[in-house]
Amino acid sequence: MSGLTLALSKGRIFEETLPLLRAAGIEVLEDPETSRKLILPTNRDGVRVVLVRASDVPTYVQYGGADLGVAGRDVLHEQALAQGGSHGLYQPLDLKIARCRMSVATRADFDYAAAVKQGSRIRVATKYTEIARQHFADKGVHVDLIKLYGSMELAPLTGLADAIVDLVSTGGTLRANKLVEVEQIMDISSRLVVNQAALKLKRDTLRPLIDAFAGAVAA
Ligand code: ATP
Ligand code: MG
Repeated sequence: MSGLTLALSKGRIFEETLPLLRAAGIEVLEDPETSRKLILPTNRDGVRVVLVRASDVPTYVQYGGADLGVAGRDVLHEQALAQGGSHGLYQPLDLKIARCRMSVATRADFDYAAAVKQGSRIRVATKYTEIARQHFADKGVHVDLIKLYGSMELAPLTGLADAIVDLVSTGGTLRANKLVEVEQIMDISSRLVVNQAALKLKRDTLRPLIDAFAGAVAA
């Protein structure tokens, strides 16, 4: 088991990790958008990429299904809160990719500031129930949380919720759905996560890789 398995999610994180891999001398030999394979070979003997759901990356790395992975701070923070603290993941590096922010958004005709001031109960739909719970508890705002798995923007438009907690980058999706960002919760980017045991057992392969990533991020 001297090989190395890197867990990535398709889309933004995969695309933005490629230049960092390249800087470490690693080329992924297949395109996940055209290939149906979930295990992608690279030009480096024994180094492979596995494609998993964004929210499954920490799980793969934590339990050793992958030695390392790239996961958003949104996913890492949400799961750390759900597990009551931190998961046994080494997080050596902020890769500064897939940057966005986590925000509260509402319909333009919902007076969020007034609702907060009056101490009203606010219905909030989100995929990030733990982060939302903590955010509103810190503000002393009473919320009813509704867990969704996607298309959060739809919730205020259909009357399912007053507000959503979701990721925003350009704001284009919010605008297209006539929603407004009323509060920013945290800045998001993706981090490198490494399995604790692998860090010890595969140090000789992992350390140069982490260093090459760090160099590419700083460049
Ligand atoms: P899944 O497909 O597993 O349900 P998802 O659809 O949320 O997950 P993506 O939308 O591809 O997955 O997002 C994956 C990660 O990319 C997120 O966890 C986040 O860190 C980052 N991300 C999501 N949206 C944006 C955005 N608008 N701008 C920049 N980064 C983003
Ligand atoms: Mg997706």
